[in-house]
Formats: sequence, structure tokens, C-alpha cells
Amino acid sequence: MSLTPEQRAEIAAQREAATPTLRTTSPGMEARLYTAHDVLDHGLIRVIDYMGDDAAICQAARVSYGRGTKAVSDDRGLIRYLMRHWHSTPFEMCEIKVHVKLPVFVARQWIRHRTANVNEYSARYSILDREFYIPAPDQLAAQSVVNNQGRGQLLEGAEAARVLDLLREDAMRAYDHYEDMLTPDADTGKLGLARELARMNLPANIYTQWYWKIDLHNLFHFLRLRADVHAQYEIRVYAQVLCEIVKDWVPQAYEAFEDYRLGAVSVSSKAKEVLKRRLAGEAVTQETSGMSKGEWREFVEEWG
Ligand SMILES: Cc1cc2nc3c(=O)[nH]c(=O)nc-3n(C[C@H](O)[C@H](O)[C@H](O)COP(=O)(O)OP(=O)(O)OC[C@H]3O[C@@H](n4cnc5c(N)ncnc54)[C@H](O)[C@@H]3O)c2cc1C
Repeated sequence: MSLTPEQRAEIAAQREAATPTLRTTSPGMEARLYTAHDVLDHGLIRVIDYMGDDAAICQAARVSYGRGTKAVSDDRGLIRYLMRHWHSTPFEMCEIKVHVKLPVFVARQWIRHRTANVNEYSARYSILDREFYIPAPDQLAAQSVVNNQGRGQLLEGAEAARVLDLLREDAMRAYDHYEDMLTPDADTGKLGLARELARMNLPANIYTQWYWKIDLHNLFHFLRLRADVHAQYEIRVYAQVLCEIVKDWVPQAYEAFEDYRLGAVSVSSKAKEVLKRRLAGEAVTQETSGMSKGEWREFVEEWG
């Protein structure tokens, strides 16, 4: 479970304490604010704050005085135009701040996205919880034989059981040692190791937490990379929850993102030529395409 009953009660109280505002609000996002969405076995994402809505993107693009909204259909057309032509700065006018609880090895991939603001739970100041990510059996797969950065066949039976046992045992033993190193004992004169040092034996599947703030343009960049099927499952599930949140927050911008980025394919100049030659009836092969074997494999995967 990602949250204690006390933490859930705190969130419910926060949602009760509404205050009127002159600021732009998004009904879809208001419905999500503060609520925790469970991810993996102990993880979560919850929106702490946000700024802007679809109209705010148009307002910035038009540099308007008022709310900037024309007809909703005009806004939709403008947002699609901006997305299609990589006119990205109006999307930077919207921001989101989320609280994320995630395994350290996922955090390590996530933190590579530099265009965000982060404040992480301090394991120098506080003691980490005994919470470790243990994959569900349907995620326990062997190394892929075709993709060096991927998974293949599922582990089964005794092998799967042994892997799960090892993961649990290692996590519990490491945490027992962490606690042991931390704990002072007046009777024996044991001082207890500093938190900033004791943490170093903990495995990368322990959970950490942070507040993460990012603008919509850079969030879309994050989602394009991390909601993609090539992203590791454990970060992809977080990206998918964020996609659902963004869909409710800025439905028109999300629709344009889904159309022009998430579901889109970029075509190299060589691939464009091959497509034209195929449309003209020519049977193009890898040898006559001018593409490398890897490029050709990816091209055929996409276009048949
Ligand atoms: C499937 C996948 C596999 C990956 N594998 C590896 C791997 O094996 N090893 C590894 O190290 N990483 C790996 N990465 C991480 C990847 O290389 C990027 O670091 C990560 O996706 C963040 O992307 P970004 O730099 O575009 O994002 P951000 O840091 O959010 O930056 C957004 C954009 O801002 C600009 N920008 C930001 N900071 C700078 C800067 N300092 N200088 C210039 N421009 C800047 C760039 O245009 C950048 O694209 C992988 C990522 C994915 C999605």
C-alpha cells in the first residue's frame, strides 16, 4: 500500500478545504488535485499544484489581455497548429507539481530529465521506510534476445520463485543491516552510524519520494520518451498515469500531443524517398534503400 490511512485522511481534509480563486482552474485537474494514484507495489503520483489550462496556452500564443479564449473550436485549432509546428513556448505557460513515490532505479532514469525542478526526500535527515519494489510475476522476464535494452520471455516456475525469494531476502537483509547500523545502544556504547552513511547498503529497489515540477512542454517531452513502449515498464507505468492526469487537465493540448507526438512517427529523408518509391510501385530492398540494416529493420517494423 502506498499511503497510510492517516495520510489518506489528510488528503481528504485538504480536498475539503476549498478556497475561491480568481485564477484559471481546470475542472478535470481540480477533480484530481491531491488525490494519490497508486503505481507499482508501493509507489504513487499525486498532483500538488498546477497552473494554466488549454485557454492559457492560447492566451499566451495570442498575447491576450483577458482570458484569451475565443470559441473552443478556435482554441483547439490553434493548439493543434502550435503542436504541429513545434511552436512550443505557449505550452511552457502551464505548469504542474507532483508528489511521486518511486523505486530508486526508476528515479535514476527519471532524474535525467533536466528541465524540471526536484526536491527529494532526504535520507541524510530522515530514515527510509522498509519499502522495496518487488516485480509482479508478469513482469519477471528474461533478457531480450533482440533488444539489449529490453525484456523477453517470462520466467516461470522454480526460477521465477527463486528470483522473487532472492529479491525479498536481499531487501530485508539489507534493511535489517541498515537499521542495525543506525541504532545506538547506550548499554554497549554503540554510537550508531550517521543516516547519510548507513543508507549506502540499501538496494536500488528501495522507494524514494520527491516533489517534481515541470512545464507542459517539457512534460510532453518526458511523456513521449517514457510512455513509449521502448521505455522500461517500471517508469512507463508512472508516465501512463501522468498521461491520464494531463488528459484531464488540458484535454485539447493532450489530444494534439497524442496525435502529433505520442502516436506519430518521424520519417528520415531516406525513408521518405523509399515510401515515395514504394507508392510508385517499386519493390525497394534494404540494399537499394540506402539505409543500414538497423534502420531498415525499424522501417519495416513501422511500415511493413
Ligand atoms: C529508451 C531510453 C533509453 C535510454 N538509455 C540511456 C542510456 O543507456 N544511458 C544514458 O545515459 N541515458 C539513457 N537515456 C536517457 C536519455 O539519454 C536522456 O538523458 C533522457 O531521455 C532525458 O532526455 P532529455 O535530455 O532530452 O531531457 P531534458 O533533460 O528534460 O532536456 C530536454 C531538452 O532540453 C535541452 N537540454 C536540457 N539540458 C541541456 C543541456 N545541458 N545542454 C543542452 N541542451 C539541453 C535538450 O534539447 C533536451 O532534449 C535513455 C532514455 C530513453 C527514453
